[in-house]
Amino acid sequence: MLEFTRQPHAPSYYAATAVPWDDQPPLDGAASADVCVVGGGLSGLSAALELARQGMSVVVLEGSKVGWGASGRNGGQVIAGYACDIDTLVDQLGQDTARVMWDMTVEAVELIDSRVREFGIECDWTRGFCNAAVKPQAMGELAKWKDTLETHYGYTGTELWNKATLETKLSSERYQGGLFDPHSGHLHPLNYTLGLARAALKLGVRIFEGTAVTRVEHGARPRVFTGHGHVDCDQVVLACNSYVGGLAPKLDKRIMPAGTYVIATEPLGEARARALIANNMAVCDTQFVLDYYRLSADHRLLFGGKVSYSGKEPANLAGAMREDMLRVFPQLADVKVDYAWGGFCDITMNRAPDFGRLSNNVYYLQGFSGHGVNITQIAGKVVAEAIAGSASRFDLFTRIRHRDFPGGRLMRTPALVLGMAYYRLRDYL
Ligand SMILES: Cc1cc2nc3c(=O)[nH]c(=O)nc-3n(C[C@H](O)[C@H](O)[C@H](O)COP(=O)(O)OP(=O)(O)OC[C@H]3O[C@@H](n4cnc5c(N)ncnc54)[C@H](O)[C@@H]3O)c2cc1C
Repeated sequence: MLEFTRQPHAPSYYAATAVPWDDQPPLDGAASADVCVVGGGLSGLSAALELARQGMSVVVLEGSKVGWGASGRNGGQVIAGYACDIDTLVDQLGQDTARVMWDMTVEAVELIDSRVREFGIECDWTRGFCNAAVKPQAMGELAKWKDTLETHYGYTGTELWNKATLETKLSSERYQGGLFDPHSGHLHPLNYTLGLARAALKLGVRIFEGTAVTRVEHGARPRVFTGHGHVDCDQVVLACNSYVGGLAPKLDKRIMPAGTYVIATEPLGEARARALIANNMAVCDTQFVLDYYRLSADHRLLFGGKVSYSGKEPANLAGAMREDMLRVFPQLADVKVDYAWGGFCDITMNRAPDFGRLSNNVYYLQGFSGHGVNITQIAGKVVAEAIAGSASRFDLFTRIRHRDFPGGRLMRTPALVLGMAYYRLRDYL
């Protein structure tokens, strides 16, 4: 488990442009609530908000600061769908249930839209996303995916763009074309997370920052222990991303912390920024180790990519990420990088989300596998539904089968690195 001592945010563009936030106090002493949520990221806060709407008293315990984890430092891409292939869900749950699962990811995008409007969250929420094909065969896969979306999932409105059409929106020669999705989009993730937290506070949720949970005592009325106090409650929600290990070793075995990284250029000016991405969409490529990028509201390019399983940041992070950026946009050779940062995603073996119960009143939400900005939103909603007595949607997720990473904590990294080397090689073929 991490040493939580109210660590500052990662040195990101987001932290530098965060809306003001009133630090919340640490928990000192005993508290009680209907539900205790562990983790003040997008999943924990989404759950807290929905639970409070149902009239429950809620305490959120955050080891560091609200949004300190992946939620405050990600690429900001809000993309309908899961990190896993939809076929993983079809194979395990059947076509009809896969359709319900798909619909929930679309609902998740709309939840963001409605929360932004309902709570007046200033987070630069913008629609439009393109999955850009690097290799020619990826165009065939995108065409098939568009057809599958329309035929089996009733998801219409996407547009398949050839190279020439894509290049009218995106000033890069790297791609063969792309699939544009007008419903998905992008936002400033830290400001969205802080906005959710503020909305939760208004609904009466108590948030304690700098309050790491050290142990959960299961029972009819669980007790959640922190360094200087405890919370007695009827239900617990663990929403800890890849830091869950110390609280629930069983869950830790099923996820792998994967580092991914982002840089922000200096402001490019509106004209130069628009010349890169004319329609201001978010972009993600089709490679296994993917590039993902978008413009910020102040006209920087935010460029993400790379993956690390060692827990260590790549050497010369800003320089290494800049090289990747120049492979896509060589015209930015004169541009400075102002910020470089990274964070961890909790990936599962099959990249499907992993939600469930450790006991009848201790729930967990994990395994967002780098696709959590929208999935965390529906995760919070369905766990709140389950706690309020309607578990049908939550239990669809619990039917997804997950495997431990082979070799346990010590060996899973080398095994995964080997697997990754194979896929990375395929990216170059
Ligand atoms: C660099 C990067 C880029 C990404 N880009 C995208 C993207 O573009 N689109 C997308 O969909 N997804 C993206 N992701 C993934 C996405 O950010 C995550 O899936 C999502 O934010 C997970 O939210 P969470 O609330 O589960 O976890 P987190 O935001 O990590 O929150 C977990 C919180 O729990 C707290 N915590 C943990 N253990 C304890 C404890 N014992 N006691 C108290 N508190 C505890 C932590 O301090 C943390 O704040 C990216 C991730 C990273 C790191």
